[in-house]
Amino acid sequence: MLAEIDVAIIGAGVIGLATAHQIAQGRKAVYVFDKNRTFGLETSSRNSEVIHAGIYYPEDSLKARLCVEGKNLLYDLCDRHNIPCKKCGKLIVAPDENEIRWLQDLHEQGRKNGLDDLVLLSRTEVRQLEPGIEARAGLLSPSSGIFDCHNLLSFLHSQAREEGVKFVFGTEVIGIERASAKYKVHIRDRDGISAFVARVVVNCAGLNSDRMAQLAGIDIDKSGYQLHYCKGEYFSLDSRYRNLITRLIYPPPEQAGHGIHWRQALDGRVLLGPSAYYVESIDYSVDETHKEYFYTSAKRFLPFVELKDLAPESAGIRPKLQGPHDGFRDFVITDEEKAGFPGLINLIGIESPGLTAALAIARFVGRMTS
Ligand SMILES: Cc1cc2nc3c(=O)[nH]c(=O)nc-3n(C[C@H](O)[C@H](O)[C@H](O)COP(=O)(O)OP(=O)(O)OC[C@H]3O[C@@H](n4cnc5c(N)ncnc54)[C@H](O)[C@@H]3O)c2cc1C
Repeated sequence: MLAEIDVAIIGAGVIGLATAHQIAQGRKAVYVFDKNRTFGLETSSRNSEVIHAGIYYPEDSLKARLCVEGKNLLYDLCDRHNIPCKKCGKLIVAPDENEIRWLQDLHEQGRKNGLDDLVLLSRTEVRQLEPGIEARAGLLSPSSGIFDCHNLLSFLHSQAREEGVKFVFGTEVIGIERASAKYKVHIRDRDGISAFVARVVVNCAGLNSDRMAQLAGIDIDKSGYQLHYCKGEYFSLDSRYRNLITRLIYPPPEQAGHGIHWRQALDGRVLLGPSAYYVESIDYSVDETHKEYFYTSAKRFLPFVELKDLAPESAGIRPKLQGPHDGFRDFVITDEEKAGFPGLINLIGIESPGLTAALAIARFVGRMTS
């Protein structure tokens, strides 16, 4: 069994994989632990696979900066390594007159975040671009796109392995203890409970990341690290809807999400979602009674959609730092030196645009571990 290692990464979702790949390039002995039998079985495989442009987030926030940087890195990586992706563009629409102001504000926010390619469109211009859409106005984001997330996860995993990273699956981290200048990490696998020592611990545990911080001794209430689970469901549309619309179509955001959007995946499936509502526990089933809500939301700007054509598809859960009534919360990506835990790097609240930002997040963490 392991005695002492340099870097222990908890979690083999996109963030843990990208971080492992990044750190390994600095030639350190890196181990990734995941409680599941393989990588990417949680939030990283239960999302929209959208490459976000970086419009929605306050300027200078980590979400804005890392999304814009990550988007460019991701397109470049997909291009160089033949990972399927498509810069199809996104049209954010204002179905009602009174939502046009919101669209203008969003345009302004995007510009503040460094996006100079956004275009405000009139009702006629929206129709010229996407004849099926009903909207009073639109905001075109040409740099948004879609990609094959499973392909990215496999690529990062195999690259990291080639670079010497060791993956330890079926192994749950159950304790993190400060041990002089290092950390004693307790794990449970099918052989029982054991422990090893690591110089640096990187907490990429997604929906469990607040609990990992707590295990290490951080007061998560005081630090504001307590996560709230926010579920997002998807419904698919009948195959006759394929190729009707070429772009991603987003409505005004809901309080906890970007709104029920239209997306044609790379494999041709047309999907509506995700919804956004807070839940107490992790359950990935899709409630069929929510179909009506999806239909009504989509119908506002997709008048051709019919209720009978919707079928339950899948669901994911967002690890949110903000509760139902809270304002914006940024990603937490921090070395806990100030809290008395140097070398403990917490990544908490890595919800959307975490996928888009993953490669930039990994660079950010890489600078902390050097
Ligand atoms: C509905 C939905 C739609 C989304 N759409 C988009 C989108 O279109 N674009 C975008 O950019 N982002 C999107 N996101 C956000 C994106 O999916 C996440 O930011 C990203 O996947 C988070 O990756 P992660 O590695 O932090 O977490 P995860 O993928 O959840 O990985 C965490 C890993 O940690 C492991 N783990 C947990 N606890 C332990 C433990 N104690 N011991 C060992 N291992 C442990 C888990 O098994 C898991 O494999 C969406 C999210 C949701 C929910």
